[in-house]
Amino acid sequence: MRILKNVKLAPYTTFRIGGPAELFAEAKSLSEIKESVKFARKNKLKIFVLGGGSNILISDDGVRGLVLRLLIRGADFRDKGSFVLASVGAGEIWDKVVAWAVRHNFGGIENLSLIPGTVGGAVHQNIGAYGTELKDVLHSVNALNIKSGEVLRLSKKGCRFGYRDSIFQHKIGKNYIVLSAVLRLDKKPKPKIIYSDLVKYFQNKKEPSIQKIREAVIRIRRSKLIYPDQFFGTAGSFFKNPVISSGVYKRLIGLHPGLKGRISGRNLVKLSAGQLIELSGWKGKRIGSVGVSKKHALVLVNYGRGRAQDIKKFASLIGSDVERKFGVKLEPEVRFVGEI
Ligand SMILES: Cc1cc2nc3c(=O)[nH]c(=O)nc-3n(C[C@H](O)[C@H](O)[C@H](O)COP(=O)(O)OP(=O)(O)OC[C@H]3O[C@@H](n4cnc5c(N)ncnc54)[C@H](O)[C@@H]3O)c2cc1C
Repeated sequence: MRILKNVKLAPYTTFRIGGPAELFAEAKSLSEIKESVKFARKNKLKIFVLGGGSNILISDDGVRGLVLRLLIRGADFRDKGSFVLASVGAGEIWDKVVAWAVRHNFGGIENLSLIPGTVGGAVHQNIGAYGTELKDVLHSVNALNIKSGEVLRLSKKGCRFGYRDSIFQHKIGKNYIVLSAVLRLDKKPKPKIIYSDLVKYFQNKKEPSIQKIREAVIRIRRSKLIYPDQFFGTAGSFFKNPVISSGVYKRLIGLHPGLKGRISGRNLVKLSAGQLIELSGWKGKRIGSVGVSKKHALVLVNYGRGRAQDIKKFASLIGSDVERKFGVKLEPEVRFVGEI
């Protein structure tokens, strides 16, 4: 395994932003990960694990320490009667896993089609779209504890999933590198069509197969989102949807009729960050090389020469404006890496 110096990170991110990694390595197996961890410990270096780079904003000054890009690939499954347990490598491209599952008619992740990134990133983030979250199908995770060197298996409960949240974002979990995930997929898929875009798409059609759902999700996403293969840099939704108490929601809706809210647990309502940004007049706005997508108010765009600092400043202008107008704080979904 080679450890390289001063590797530009921008090409490894979908934002296409970021200075160099002090040191950079790619690991295709557990033994290569262990080798990198040993090297980092010996040289007192911090490790940053890189997946597909689709949910991060890397500092223009780069990242100190070792950036370890995970390339553990492969997918396999065990038949359990009415379901299968599919084990997938952390470096596997998430959407390839979805395509593979749909091809075998294993249901449960078709609504998560076309989300960029790797399996490791999907677990870290508990990805979600069109009424499904990764946690709905996750059975367990294998991870390496880089402090103790031990490989452990975490159950779904042990992963402490929340809205775009997991144990891997918190103190103990930060020492874990996800090696693989085990997904529980149904052999008799039950289509989940609860989100308005999908409901509209399948109106007056008979119950669709998971192949049709994947097709629909891909079509809808391509029409709404900017994909990195469409020339601009982006990390998808920049902010999380804010969750507020139902009391505050009642007050807000009195002031702003038409404000969308979705019940999100007891006495909690999830607002649409995209709607708040759009109502604040930011959709399609641009300052220099960065802006808000014209198609989707939650998506910040690097039009070419944007820097991490520009994105951060721009996001903070949006955040302050939304807070002034609605009294609601926006929290980034994208993770900031290094000093920005
Ligand atoms: C066009 C577009 C659309 C998107 N749509 C959605 C969407 O609908 N829903 C959604 O939830 N997200 C969406 N995203 C965000 C993003 O795709 C997901 O969060 C994705 O799961 C990130 O995976 P990644 O491999 O790219 O992670 P990275 O961006 O490389 O890393 C993200 C974080 O995960 C950590 N990490 C990565 N791999 C591991 C590992 N093996 N072990 C431990 N930690 C790890 C990293 O250290 C980092 O902190 C979108 C992004 C884009 C660009």
